[in-house]
Amino acid sequence: MSNDNKRADSLTGVCFDTDLIVRYGGRGPRYTSYPTALQFNDSVTASVYQEQAVASNASGVPLSLYVHIPFCHSLCYYCGCNKIVTRNQARVDRYLEMLYREIEMQSELFDKSRKIEQLHFGGGTPTYLDNDQLSELLTHLRSAFNFDESDEREFSIEVDPRTVDADGIRHLAKLGFNRLSLGIQDFEPVVMEAVNRVQTPDEVQNLVNSAIDSGFGSISFDLIYGLPHQTVESFNRTLDIVIGMKPDRLAVYNYAHLPQRFKGQRMINADAIPLPETKLELLHHTIDKLCGEGYVYIGMDHFALPGDELVRARLDGTLQRNFQGYSTHRQCDLVSLGVSGIGNIGNLYAQNAITTMEYEEIIERGEFPIKKGILVDDDDLLRADVIQALMCYDSLSFDDFGADHDIDFRDYFADEIKRLGPLADDGLIELDGSGVAITQKGRLLLRSIAMVFDRYIDQAQNDNRFSKAI
Ligand code: SF4
Repeated sequence: MSNDNKRADSLTGVCFDTDLIVRYGGRGPRYTSYPTALQFNDSVTASVYQEQAVASNASGVPLSLYVHIPFCHSLCYYCGCNKIVTRNQARVDRYLEMLYREIEMQSELFDKSRKIEQLHFGGGTPTYLDNDQLSELLTHLRSAFNFDESDEREFSIEVDPRTVDADGIRHLAKLGFNRLSLGIQDFEPVVMEAVNRVQTPDEVQNLVNSAIDSGFGSISFDLIYGLPHQTVESFNRTLDIVIGMKPDRLAVYNYAHLPQRFKGQRMINADAIPLPETKLELLHHTIDKLCGEGYVYIGMDHFALPGDELVRARLDGTLQRNFQGYSTHRQCDLVSLGVSGIGNIGNLYAQNAITTMEYEEIIERGEFPIKKGILVDDDDLLRADVIQALMCYDSLSFDDFGADHDIDFRDYFADEIKRLGPLADDGLIELDGSGVAITQKGRLLLRSIAMVFDRYIDQAQNDNRFSKAI
C-alpha cells in the first residue's frame, strides 16, 4: 500500500456505523498534541524554555504564532474554554500591557531570519478587542517578529459574530488577517436562547459578504451538536442556512455536558439536552448532509471544500493535528503568547500560567510565564508521528515509516500491531503485512485507533478531562 494511494482513497468519505460508534466511542484524547497536556509537568521551567527556544534557531524553521485573548462580553452556557467574562476595560488594558511585554521577551529568543508564516488569534474572544486595540497589538507583533507578508501567509482569527460588524471585518483584513473562523453553533432561536448566544443568519451573512469582499481566503464556521432543544429537523435547518453561506471549512463539535467541571453549564437545562441516540442521529445526518453537499471529511469533526488548503495539505503531506484542530504549515515551531498558551518548539511543549493573575504577576517580575510542559523523548516523537499519520492521512506504511525514522516498524511496534488485530476484525482498519489503512467506518473513530499507540493511555482513559469520541 503506497501512502499516496491511501491518501487519495481516504478522501472518498466516511461511513457511519452506529454499533461500532457505541462500542468504540468512549473517552479519549483528541490528540491535538502527543503526549497530551495531561503529561505536562513542572520540570519544564522558564529557563528550559529559553534554552530550547534559542537552540531551535539552528534549525531555521519558520514560526507560527498563537495569541490568546481570554476576554468575553457574555457567557455562552455550553463553553468549556479558558475565558474571562468581563466588561472591565482596566482589566483588559493591564492584560494587554503584560502581553506586550511577553511579546518583547519572546521575540528576543528567536532569530529575526525566522519568518512568521502562520498567526492565529484565539480565545476567549479575540474580537473583544476594538479596532484600535487590535491595531496596536499587531503593531507590537510586527515590530517584534519578522512577518511573512506574502500571499503564502496564513493569518487567522476567531470571530464572535456578535462583536464585529462589516467594518470590523474590513479592519481585520487591513491588519493582514486572511482567514476567519466564525463561532456559529446553531441558528435556531430556541437553541441560541438556551445557551445564551443569540445571533441572526442575516448578521452572519453580512460578515461573510464583507469577508469575501475584503479578500479573505478562507472562512470557517464552528457548529455544535448536542445542544439543548436540538432535533435532527432543527439542526437540518441550521445546516441549510450554513451551507447556503458556503464556508470553506466547518468544524462540528460534540457538546459534552460536564456541569460539575464547567460552572456555566449549570445554566443549561439537562432535560432539554438531546438523548445519546438523538446525538448520534444528529451526527449521522450532519455527515451525510455535508458530504452530500461536496464537503470533504478531514477527520475529527472537521470538513472542508475540495479546493481548501486543508484538503490540499492532506494530499501533499503537510497537514497536521495541532491545538487548533487540523492545520497546515507543519514545519513551523509554535510560539504561544498570552495566558494558558501552549508552545511547541522543537521537542518541547511549554504552557504559560493558566490564570491571568499569575500570568501578569510573573511577567511583571520580568520573567517568562512558563509553568509546565514536557520535553519529549525519541519514543514520544515516534508515537507522535504515527498518531499524526493516522489522524491526518488515515494510513501508514510500515516500510515507509520505518525507513523515514530508521526503525524496524514491525519489531518496534510489535505489541501495538497485535492490539490492532481486534480493530481490524471489527472493520475499523485494514491491516496487512505492509501497513494499516483506516476504513470509512473507522474514520469516525480515529482517536480510538490512535490510542493503541499512546503509551500513556491507561492514565488518560481514567481522566474525565477527556471527552467521549462521539
Ligand atoms: S464560547 Fe467563546 S464567546 Fe462564548 S463564553 Fe466561550 S470563549 Fe467566550
